[in-house]
Amino acid sequence: MTILDGKKIREELLEKYKEIIQEQDLNIVLAIIQIGDNSSSNTYVKNKVIYTKKVGIKTKVFKLPENLDENECITLINQLNNDSTITGILVQSPLPKQLDFKKLSRLILDSKDVDGLSKNNLFALRDNKEKIIPCTVKGILKIFDYYEISVEGKNIVIIGRSDIVGRPLADALINRNATITLCHSKTKNIEMYTSQADIVISAVGHPNLITKDMVKDQFIGIDVGINYVDGKLVGDFHENVKEKASYLTPVPGGVGPMTISMLIENLIELKRG
Ligand code: NAP
Repeated sequence: MTILDGKKIREELLEKYKEIIQEQDLNIVLAIIQIGDNSSSNTYVKNKVIYTKKVGIKTKVFKLPENLDENECITLINQLNNDSTITGILVQSPLPKQLDFKKLSRLILDSKDVDGLSKNNLFALRDNKEKIIPCTVKGILKIFDYYEISVEGKNIVIIGRSDIVGRPLADALINRNATITLCHSKTKNIEMYTSQADIVISAVGHPNLITKDMVKDQFIGIDVGINYVDGKLVGDFHENVKEKASYLTPVPGGVGPMTISMLIENLIELKRG
């Protein structure tokens, strides 16, 4: 079984990005809007600040109170849209209940939409004319490219239909000629689909959701899930899937490092215009 080592790819990519940013003297500034004090968001934002800094990108974190009114957030996004010193804008999910992530993300100008969530960028992806695509989706595609795993003609099951992972990932993989089944919380007998799949991608946030009885021999597993069990970071796959996998992303060290890397790649693309 081959471990799909996102950390190793990230280290190689960071070197490349650092060089590009230095050589082309790119002055890149990322604005991150974080609302509330969610512990996962704190970790995500902290990591984004650390890794962007490593390649010479500046970040401005706007940490706002949990009870923030939607209009205040809209005002901030508009200000950042109009601020020529800002290269990219990111709204960190999850958001407090009174705020609509989709609505807020779609207010970001296409030219500053670092996570590819504006209507135009999502439609371009749907239309097979990809522009900026969501960082986690792009990170998964990069893993396939790096390990020379072709998805064309493959039977791929994605579990999770969120706007940031499952849905855009389905579009991206359809663009690459894979056959996609998209499962979610209302899907009955998920194992009926996963057991037929060449590639299983889980983006749910449920530890041990996928076990070895649910997958076929030599399947390829991409674990997007982030869960804390007794203080330990784990994904959605049970440990025992290793017995059947041909390739597998670890958690931590698989998809997570790729998401950060693609954030940087998207920022470079936005800066270059
Ligand atoms: P989300 O918006 O909460 O979506 C979760 C999806 O899982 C929904 O479509 C939901 O179905 C489905 N689901 C929930 N319980 C299920 C079950 N028992 N069986 C099948 N499907 C089920 O989450 P997200 O933002 O996409 O994130 C998903 C996971 O990936 C989280 O653990 C998150 O932390 C992680 N994540 C990791 C990275 C990374 O870089 N590694 C990046 C983004 C997210 P319904 O639509 O029916 O509710």
